[in-house]
Amino acid sequence: MNLQKNEKFRDTIATIDDSGKRNFIFPKKPSGIFYIYRTYVSWVLLTILMAAPFIKIKGNQFLLFNVIERKFHIFGFPFWPQDFHLLVISLLLSVVFIILFTVVFGRIFCGWICPQTIFMEMVFRKIEYLIDGDRTKQIKLDKQDWNAEKIRKRLLKWTAFFIIAFLISNVFLAYIIGSDELLQYITESPLDHINTLLNLLVFTLIFYFIFAWFREQVCIIVCPYGRLQGVLLDNKSINVAYDFIRGEGDNGRKKIRKGEDRDALGHGDCVECNHCVQVCPTGIDIRNGTQLECINCTACIDACDAIMLRTGFEKGLIRYASEDDIEKNDKFKFTPRLIAYSAILTILAGVLLTMIFLRNDIEATILRLPGHTFQSTKTSIKNVYTFKLINKTTEDISNVEMKLISHKGSVEIVGGKSNVKKQGLKEGTLFIEITKKDLNSSKEKLKIGIYSNGELIETATTNFSGPLKIK
Ligand code: SF4
Ligand code: SF4
Repeated sequence: MNLQKNEKFRDTIATIDDSGKRNFIFPKKPSGIFYIYRTYVSWVLLTILMAAPFIKIKGNQFLLFNVIERKFHIFGFPFWPQDFHLLVISLLLSVVFIILFTVVFGRIFCGWICPQTIFMEMVFRKIEYLIDGDRTKQIKLDKQDWNAEKIRKRLLKWTAFFIIAFLISNVFLAYIIGSDELLQYITESPLDHINTLLNLLVFTLIFYFIFAWFREQVCIIVCPYGRLQGVLLDNKSINVAYDFIRGEGDNGRKKIRKGEDRDALGHGDCVECNHCVQVCPTGIDIRNGTQLECINCTACIDACDAIMLRTGFEKGLIRYASEDDIEKNDKFKFTPRLIAYSAILTILAGVLLTMIFLRNDIEATILRLPGHTFQSTKTSIKNVYTFKLINKTTEDISNVEMKLISHKGSVEIVGGKSNVKKQGLKEGTLFIEITKKDLNSSKEKLKIGIYSNGELIETATTNFSGPLKIK
C-alpha cells in the first residue's frame, strides 16, 4: 500500500496544533448529490425532533423523558417506574441494534441521523455560510482586524446562533417536563418560574457553546459512540473510504498535467487537489484511511466525485465501501458475528413485544402492612394491607372496589370506594377478613379482584397470615 509518506496524522489530530491550541476548521461548503440527500433527510429529522414533544397519541406525548417524575413516553406509549424492566430491555435492544448497525454500516448514523451533525452541518453551518461566506471568506474574516464588517457579521451570527440555541433548549425542556407544562410556562410570567428560566438559559449557553465553538470536538473527544468505532468496525464494515488501490496506482498520487499519460507513468486517479480535505468538517484527510475523527458525512465523496468528473476519471474514488471491498473486491457477507448479533436482536425484540403485549393498563400492588401480624376474633381473622393502584390509561377510573376471588371473605378499603385519575396513582389502606372455617393454614395466598363500576379490571395476589392453629 502506497499511502502518504507523511505519517504525522497518526500522532496528531487536525483540530489541535503543535502548541496544543485549538485549530479552528473552516470546511468548504459541500455540494453534490449526497449533500442534497442529506439536506432532505435533515429536514425530515429536524421536523420530527422539534415536533415530537408536541404530538399526542391518545393524550400521551409522543416522546417524553421526564426523569424528574420518572415518567417516560415512547411513541406515545407510557412507561411508569413499574415498567422499568421494559425500559431496560428497550435500552439493551437499542444497544444491540446500534452495534449490529455499526458493524455492517459503520458510522452512517453519525453522518445522516445524529442530532449533533444535523444541527451543526445543516443548521448552524448553513447560517455561517450565509453570513460569513464560504471557506476562503471565513478564513479571511477570521484573520482580519475588528473592523465594522467583522463586528456586524459576528454580531449577526452570534445572535442567530443564540436564538436557535434558545429554541433548541425549549424543545429539549419539552422532552423533559412535557410540552403542556412548557407552553403553560411560556404563557405565564417568567418571574413565576424563575428556576425553569435559569435552567433554560444554562441549556441555551451549553448548546451555544457546542455549536458556536466546540463543534466537531463533540464527535472527536466527547461522544462515546465515536470512541467505540475501534472495537466495532472490522474489514467488512461499510464506511466512507478512499480507494487507495485506484487512487495511488503504482507510483502514487500526483497533480494532473495536461497531455500526460498517467497510466504509463503509473500514477493513480487521485490528482492531489485536496478538495476532500478542504470540505471535511473534522479536518482530516480520508486518504490516510479510516480514522476515528471521520463522521461519515460524505462531503469528501461529493467533493471527489466532482473532481473525478472534471478530470475525466470514473466517480467513486472516495465512496461507501469496506476495506475488503477495496483491497480484495470482496463484497458484503453475513459473518458469524453478524448472525450472532442478529439472533440476540431478534430474541430481545421478541421479549420486549411480548412484555408490552402482556402489560396491563391498570397495575395493582397489595402488600401486608409491615410490623402488623393479624387480628383474631372468635370466628374470623383480619389482616391489614397497603395498596397501590396505577392507572396508565388516559381515562379516569371511578368507583374502584376490591373483592376476594380465591376465598370467601370481605375486603374493606379505608375511606370506601375510590377513583384513580388518568395517568394517576392511588395509595391507601385496606382490611381483609376471612372466616376461620375458610382458612386451611396459617399462611395463604389470596387472589383479589379490582372492580370499577362492577366490572373486573385487574387482579392482584397477596399473602394472608393467621395463627398456627386456626381451627
Ligand atoms: S473524511 Fe469525509 S466523510 Fe469523513 S468526516 Fe471528513 S468529509 Fe466527512
Ligand atoms: S478529492 Fe479526490 S482527487 Fe482530490 S485529493 Fe481528494 S481523493 Fe484526491
